[in-house]
This record gives sequence, structure tokens and C-alpha cells, in this order.
Amino acid sequence: MKKKVIVLGCAGSIGRSSLDVLANLSDDWEVVGLATGSRVDILLEQATRFRPRAVAIADEARADAARREGTGVSRVFTGPGATVDLLDAVECDCVIAAISGAASLHATLRAVELGRRVALANKEALVVAGGLLTALAQRTGAEIIPVDSEHSAVFQAVHAGRPEDVLRIILTASGGPFRTWSAESMQRITPQDALEHPTWRMGPKITIDSATMMNKALEVIEAHWLFNMPADRIEVAVHPESIVHSLVEFKDGSMMAQLGTPDMRTPIQYALTYPARRACPSKRLDLAAVGTLTFEAPDLDRFPALRFGFEAARRGGTSGAALNAANEAAVELFREGRIGFADIAGLTGRVMDAHAWEATPALETLLAVDAWARDEVRKCTTSLR
Ligand code: MG
Repeated sequence: MKKKVIVLGCAGSIGRSSLDVLANLSDDWEVVGLATGSRVDILLEQATRFRPRAVAIADEARADAARREGTGVSRVFTGPGATVDLLDAVECDCVIAAISGAASLHATLRAVELGRRVALANKEALVVAGGLLTALAQRTGAEIIPVDSEHSAVFQAVHAGRPEDVLRIILTASGGPFRTWSAESMQRITPQDALEHPTWRMGPKITIDSATMMNKALEVIEAHWLFNMPADRIEVAVHPESIVHSLVEFKDGSMMAQLGTPDMRTPIQYALTYPARRACPSKRLDLAAVGTLTFEAPDLDRFPALRFGFEAARRGGTSGAALNAANEAAVELFREGRIGFADIAGLTGRVMDAHAWEATPALETLLAVDAWARDEVRKCTTSLR
């Protein structure tokens, strides 16, 4: 019998790559559910091809318009709870969680609650609610397999030894488009500049997060929860070629790395087939063509966001939720041209420092911190102008 998979965030960059992978694995895998926020056209096109049992469309107005024209799908869930309804209604072996932003929280928690294997692509769920999510997974037996390329690399590398023999995790970072820019020229960065990533093709929010290195900050927190690793045993190495996707150092000094072309289809597929490996449509790595791999220490003065990531991982509790929400709000303001590039990290750090910290927050507390931080960023903006 084929394994069943639900793809949440099917119209986004990870969602589309996931369906690419699944088309290739169609002998063993069946797509039983698709979910999108509002990109109904893409979802319906995918539904025609993959014939899921049900779909979820969060945006009610767009769902209604689609219904009038005929969707060709027997069950359509709509509204803000649509994704959770889909997960409850349709059995599956694996959920690919690729909804971006804090909106992914409820859906990811439900998938873990249902004991599914969760191929986790959205880092926010772990960043905001890592403590809750990992405790819940332990109770239900849900496997959380990272799709984020760095964490997939770490996940693959840790299997070279016993978990208790891991000394450090080293996350690699491309350094983004401003790696070599001077502090002075960084003051004039426009949203257009920040939307050009040198090695990865991704959605706009994560591309800007790569430019500020907030993406790596969030990944430090993600690694902390996923691998139960204290912040002082996580390191970041800037590696502009994006070929070594991350490393694990064991007690004896041996480092294990995972290498490959920068193509998200590799970690997506591995999360589905783990522990098995299958041929993958990603381009293969030609080491001689790559030639040189370089590594450098990150510059925390030009990229202060990274410092906040380590701080949030160290403090735990509500810190990740405050950092993530403040950053989402600040990125939005930057894209609207209302704040400068340096203000993204500046505001985010300030708001994280100012929030009412709690050590073991419940979901309601995390959501309250999230809402407060977004509000606070918008307020600070008024005082900036
Ligand atoms: Mg990543």
C-alpha cells in the first residue's frame, strides 16, 4: 500500500518542490491533502495533477470564488481552521509542514498531536514553540524530521555516532548578499537589494531573513530544540558556496558534514524516505567543478541579528516567540519602505529584550507574546520617524 502525505503550504516554494519530489516517488507515495492560505490557482492546478482526497483554503472569499467555478475536489475545508480540519479529517503517514511564518503553529502542533511524521520546513513552529512541540512529540511518538537544509544535514550527520558523543553543531550560512559589504554601504540597502540571494531561490520573507542573517539566528534556536543542544555548543560558520549544508563535531574531534548542491528537494525527499534513500531529481554535486570551499567566522557587528538568536536560544522560554514575531513585523515594515535595513535587527533585539519573559509558557502565552511583539515593533516605528 502507498504511503499517504499531506502538503501544507503547497503553493509556496517548499510546497512546490515537495510536489516535484512526490511526482518522482509516486510508486510509493500518494498525495492525500493539500493546503494553502490564498493561492487557490496553484492549489487547484496541483489538485488536478495529484487528485488529493481533500484540500484546505484558509482565505474564505477565494475559496468561495473557486467553489463557484468548480474545484474538482470532493472536500474543501475553508476558514482560519481549515488546515487543522484537513489534518483531522484525512489520515496520513507524513505531513510536510511548509506554511511560512507564525501561521504554521496550530497546524504543526496538531500534526504532532496526531502522532504523524512531520517533515518540518517552517522553522517558526520550533522557534516559537520549541519546548511545547518537542515535549508533545515525545508524548505522541511523532517524528519531527527537519527539512531546513542545515538541520537536515545535522540530522544526517548525527547518525554517524551516539547522540551523547556529539560535542558541537556547526551550522553553515551563505552570508547572504551583503556578506562583503562595508558597514557604511549597508546603511543604504533597499528591499530590492535584500531580495537577491546569491545561492538559494526562496520566498521573500526568508530571503530578507538571509540578508540580515536573522534566518541563521532562527536556525540556531531551531537546532537548540531539535537536537537538545545548549546554545554554547552551537556555532555558525559562513560558507558562501552553500555546498556543505552543516556539520557535527564529535568528542574525538571528528567532524561529519553533509554536502550537496543547494536544492531543497534533497532534504525534502530525505524527510519522506528516512531512513531509506532514493534517487532524487536534484542536480548532482560535481566536486571538481565546485573547486574551492571557503569558511569564515560571522561578523556579529554587521549582522547583530545573529547575536539575538544565540541569546534567545540561551534564554529559552518565550524569547524565541518574541524574536520571531518582532522580526516578521519588522521585515514587513522594511518591505513597505517604512524602516531601514539595520532597523530590522535593531527593533527586533529591542523588543525581545523588553518582553515579559516566561520560562515554560503555554500556547496562549506564546500567542500573547507574539501579538505584543508585533504591536510593539509598529509602535517603535512611529517613534523612529
Ligand atoms: Mg536553512
